Amino acid sequence: MSAGALPVAGPSAVRRAALRLIRQDGRAFAAVVGLNASAAGAGLVGPWLLGRIIDEVRAGASVAAVDRLALAILVFALVQLLLVRYAGHLGHRFGERTLARIREQFADRALALPATVVERAGTGDLLTRGTTDVAAVGATLRDAGPEILIAAAQALFILGAVFALDPLLGACGVLGLCGIWFAARWYLRRALDAYLAEGAANSALAEQLAATAAGARTVEALGLQRRRVAASEETIAECRSTRARTLFLRSVLFPAVDVSYVLPVAGVLLLGAVLHDHGSMSLGAVVASALYLRQLSQPLDTVLQQMEQVQSSSASFARVEGLGLAAQAPPASSPVPADDRIEVSAVRYAYDGGGDVLHGVDLTVRPGERLVIVGPSGAGKTTLGRLLAGMDRPRTGSVTVGRVPVAGLDPDRLRRHVVLVTQEHHVFLGTVGDNLRVASAHATDDELRAALTAVGAEWADELPDGLDTDLGPGGYRPDGAQAQQLALARVVLADPHTLILDEATALLDPRTARHTERALAAVLEGRTVIAVAHRLQTAHDADRVAVMEDGRLTELGTHDELVAADGAYAALWRSWHGGGPSSS
Ligand code: ADP
Repeated sequence: MSAGALPVAGPSAVRRAALRLIRQDGRAFAAVVGLNASAAGAGLVGPWLLGRIIDEVRAGASVAAVDRLALAILVFALVQLLLVRYAGHLGHRFGERTLARIREQFADRALALPATVVERAGTGDLLTRGTTDVAAVGATLRDAGPEILIAAAQALFILGAVFALDPLLGACGVLGLCGIWFAARWYLRRALDAYLAEGAANSALAEQLAATAAGARTVEALGLQRRRVAASEETIAECRSTRARTLFLRSVLFPAVDVSYVLPVAGVLLLGAVLHDHGSMSLGAVVASALYLRQLSQPLDTVLQQMEQVQSSSASFARVEGLGLAAQAPPASSPVPADDRIEVSAVRYAYDGGGDVLHGVDLTVRPGERLVIVGPSGAGKTTLGRLLAGMDRPRTGSVTVGRVPVAGLDPDRLRRHVVLVTQEHHVFLGTVGDNLRVASAHATDDELRAALTAVGAEWADELPDGLDTDLGPGGYRPDGAQAQQLALARVVLADPHTLILDEATALLDPRTARHTERALAAVLEGRTVIAVAHRLQTAHDADRVAVMEDGRLTELGTHDELVAADGAYAALWRSWHGGGPSSS
């Protein structure tokens, strides 16, 4: 597991979560348990009646009396069948409803994850939890859960019936079953860890493959194939060894259990024969007891087989629930920023496990101004941009808008104040309208059209179904510039007073730059803009320039002031122009 892996819920948290899920659909759960118990009760009648037949035949009963008993056996078998089927049906429905709740909760929590947590953990882990793990929990709820309930009820009733026939035979049966208990205990103690390790190894493999596939071009360009293959082989070996471990656990459990089934039946037959010899027990009762204990193997088998599924899926459930630990609870009452002023005060920031990359940054941004941050690569410009956009919290110090910490704002409110513009212009599956309403859920069609016009997206007017045109595969596929325009239209709709612009990522390829440059200008109009600039031309046109070096703000002023001061910025400017200091 990597250092930034998503957390896994502890055993008590998993139990609490499971109980909560049951309580949320308590009536259905009670009905399933009740029906299963009735079915198990009906199943007991058969062997008991068979014992009665044996005793009555020995006592010289008529054929008609035996027929009546045989018919009763048939009727109870039918009743049991019907009850089991109905209980199974209810159980499946309960399972599906619960699975749907788990899925919804997973989606909510995944969306509430801070971006930095996902970046650190990698999307592979999140993906595995959302697919493999949720599916494993679903299979348990749908199949294993109801089956275990049915089997457990049957086993309990059967044991009770043997005790009712004769306590001594019952005790003999229980003794024989101790072997199963010990085998199961041995297994359970080791299984959870083994399955957790297997799950983690699977995630690591998915992560590795996804990273190799996503970076295939880079891998090829840098000739890293051999290294990637070696790394993959290592991960695969790890996967293999964790699987071998769980396989070993199963290969001990099941043979031990099979032997344990035979013992109680043999014990009851031996002891029953002695008791029958002494005349203290009827032959019918001995036969019925042996039949009961023989029957016991079937529900116990089910419990054990499904227990393995429950084990692996409780490891999955722990991983699914673990998401809740990383998800950011939305602040109960998010404070409202008093104004549009952005203030950075004594900010220090360190990436996971590293030293500080920002060493006490102070900065006040005036509403409406255009501030450009320049400096050498690695100085901390991008990091400061992320803090300004509320994507992460400073280690110490504060980044506030209207005296409220930016990172503490809930996403809806944050969007109305500060938005980070990057080149990640994702087109969501859905209509044009859906894509725009991501930014402002209640915007009217006219507002959407106005936003599109503002960013120069006239092409949207010519779409066959207008705002209801589907985008993406199977629908209209916007090109790079159009996708960027959609992203910018979202910014217009969110209408934040401040934009954080990372030039390195906001730049587009030259073919589309001309379109979007104009669109971008329209979006910037009237807002505070803090831009991380990589071209000094941008700095020249700004109201103020901030120079960052080694995690510190070393210079702050207008272009002319800084050139006149003849410091780091002036040197940068000169080298950019390749001319003398007078070239501004
Ligand atoms: P700039 O944008 O000025 O090039 P950055 O803010 O990207 O600088 O980087 C500042 C410092 O933080 C650099 O030393 C860089 O190595 C480090 N850094 C940036 N991103 C990460 C990250 N995700 N994890 C660890 N260190 C990082």
